[in-house]
Amino acid sequence: MRHLEGPLCSVDLTDRVTETSSIDGILESYLGGRGVGTKLAHDRIPFDAEPFGSENRLVLAAGPMQQSRMSFTGRVSMTGLSPLTNGLVSSNAGGFLSRNLVGTGYSAIEFTGEADELLAVHVRPDSVEFESVPELEGAEVPDVTEYAASEWDLDAEQTICIGPAGENEVRFASVMTTETRAFGRGGLGAVMGSKNLKAVTFAGGETPVVEFPDVAMDVHRDAATSDHSMKRQGTTAGTDYANAVEAFPTRYFSEREFEGVEGINGDAVESKKYKKGTCSQCAFACKLPTKDEERGVETEGPEFETVMAFGSNCAVDDIVDVMKSNDLCDRLGLDTISCGDTIAAYLMAEDEFGNVDLIHELVEQIGHREGVGDLLAEGTHRVADDLGVHDWSVKGMEFPAHDGRHLHGQGLSFATSNRGADHMYASFYALEYPYVEKSKAVEPHGLDDKPERLVKKENHNAVLDSGVVCKFSRDFIDEETLATLFDTTYDHLQEVGSRIVTLERHFNNQRGFDRDDDRLPYDIPGFPRALSEYYELRGWDESGVVPESAVGDGSGATPADD
Ligand code: SF4
Repeated sequence: MRHLEGPLCSVDLTDRVTETSSIDGILESYLGGRGVGTKLAHDRIPFDAEPFGSENRLVLAAGPMQQSRMSFTGRVSMTGLSPLTNGLVSSNAGGFLSRNLVGTGYSAIEFTGEADELLAVHVRPDSVEFESVPELEGAEVPDVTEYAASEWDLDAEQTICIGPAGENEVRFASVMTTETRAFGRGGLGAVMGSKNLKAVTFAGGETPVVEFPDVAMDVHRDAATSDHSMKRQGTTAGTDYANAVEAFPTRYFSEREFEGVEGINGDAVESKKYKKGTCSQCAFACKLPTKDEERGVETEGPEFETVMAFGSNCAVDDIVDVMKSNDLCDRLGLDTISCGDTIAAYLMAEDEFGNVDLIHELVEQIGHREGVGDLLAEGTHRVADDLGVHDWSVKGMEFPAHDGRHLHGQGLSFATSNRGADHMYASFYALEYPYVEKSKAVEPHGLDDKPERLVKKENHNAVLDSGVVCKFSRDFIDEETLATLFDTTYDHLQEVGSRIVTLERHFNNQRGFDRDDDRLPYDIPGFPRALSEYYELRGWDESGVVPESAVGDGSGATPADD
């Protein structure tokens, strides 16, 4: 099986020392990316660690596909203990970092400990340097990238950093790369902040390119020549459809259809798009650089989920206002979904839906933990009681769109996801929106036969996250192609994906997660039975707990295979 190669670089921020070690066995069993991050985090973060404690670790890892010239490979993965969910979270970002990371020669880089002053860490093939950067305290993301260019002669594509939100330990702070691309979900930016780590740069040599089977170039050619709607409108291409089938959360989830959708849909975003945007090596180019000169707003996006969180869920029907929210989140280093939803909760409590000035002020206040922003920076789950609103989260993570009250399989998937209410954990919505995967479409209502499909989708996505392959490759890379790319069988890839999901779950179980946490804020007919069936298919017990026998000797050690 094809996997990433190279040693692990462990960076201890407390003592400012590094260690290089071989993790060949782990790479053989877990591919790279999320798989390797999960295995290292599972085995090295104490099960009782605090998310903001020095024992928490952040693991940054590319995958074997970052050594190809294939489209859909401009991504890299990060794993750690989440301050939002209190469980293990992997998040991946696009942009142009991936090749720069691989160019350092390391398969993965982990950060542990806690610095006693604000630091930047510079990773090169032959050295790791620690630099005190007090002048970057409170700096917004564009200011950090400007500093990287002027002081280090490095660009945003070689940098990960946090904004004020990460420094202030906002529980949904993101880690940013390439200035506008986010490791968004789960608050790993706040973990970086708790470690006093402002930025990491990667100045590698030439990125190694290894021989790949011909299908890699077939995929690349198809991505380049396709007239797929996402090439024009990115993820916002499905906005009207989601709204039409009532899967588009509106006014803090109190409705599922937004009367102002025309002002924020894919056409609205496309009307503000001024050039193509992409990630490293990707000819699909689904990104959305947008600007409105009249109102002086320029950003990248908003993506579909941001259109929901800061648009319909806040009752905002002007795309430029959503672009402004998106830009503020990118500057401050905030996950747009969690931030928009938490603000929507506040708007509901204050009866202020549609108040765009207040929304923009709240984003700033959250990023700086000022005023009511200090409360909202805790995320919806922790503030819902104080606000007197319903808690719209799973495992502490706020919901994206693709409403599970219409898309029942996606609803089940929100519940089982180890990282909480996140749509990309299984992308089950793609099966339940017929326009997305026509050949595989399933009836959105009902849960019959869906647990088995869900297990397969979760495993599949775990492999993509470890590859690291972008999930928007779904119309270009089928199961057979994926198996060919990894030089193995698809059944074997399913085993690898299952191993990763089970290890995440085992870690979370040790922190007290069980069936009670696989809970939705709404009812879906047949949900309890489907959840039990899901556990049975996974080999977990009726409470959703992984038996120790499923993770080897209890340390999580899993023998390497081919
Ligand atoms: S499909 Fe879009 S998000 Fe995915 S790698 Fe390509 S440009 Fe980036």
